[in-house]
Amino acid sequence: MTTREYHLTQVTCPSCNREGLDVADVEYDAQNFGTVITSITRCSSCGFRHSDVFSLSTHEPTATSVKVMSPEDLKIRVVRGNTATILVPEFGVSIQPGLNNEGFISDVEGVLARTEGVLRFLASSLLGRKKQRAEALLGKIARAREGRLRFTLELKDPLGNSTIVSGKAKKHRLSASELNRLKFGEHAIAARRRS
Ligand SMILES: [Zn+2]
Repeated sequence: MTTREYHLTQVTCPSCNREGLDVADVEYDAQNFGTVITSITRCSSCGFRHSDVFSLSTHEPTATSVKVMSPEDLKIRVVRGNTATILVPEFGVSIQPGLNNEGFISDVEGVLARTEGVLRFLASSLLGRKKQRAEALLGKIARAREGRLRFTLELKDPLGNSTIVSGKAKKHRLSASELNRLKFGEHAIAARRRS
């Protein structure tokens, strides 16, 4: 991995409006995928932080998945582009990319940790039966993070900036109907019409 750090003096922080942001770009070579750059922007005044993931080569709209069968599988590298939807079908988990969505490079366990964070935040505003269901799901994710449950991790990315770095990972090109049901899927459909 190669890291480049620089300071953008002319750019205003989106959170506190002070001028000047620190950027750290990390280059990562993902096997059978090409070079991926993670760019982390930070503001030293207010602590604002945002991360993006870019792929240097172009990719098709792709679904990539891996079956997690053992604690070792939790260490499999995952590249999550900003436009990817994260799915764990066995748990009924589907996390769509939001407006301020972050791209990142992590491992399977790290993806579960982030998923747990999102769910914990959602669960805090739920009541009654919905809260019980959310808490049961949080329990499953906690067990999965310890390698005690088998599950499938799937990333559907209409811009193809996501991959799972493992010989066990399966990939397929997203179909038009899959794209129709995906957040940001319209971008890939529009690109296909142009070409
Ligand atoms: Zn700031």
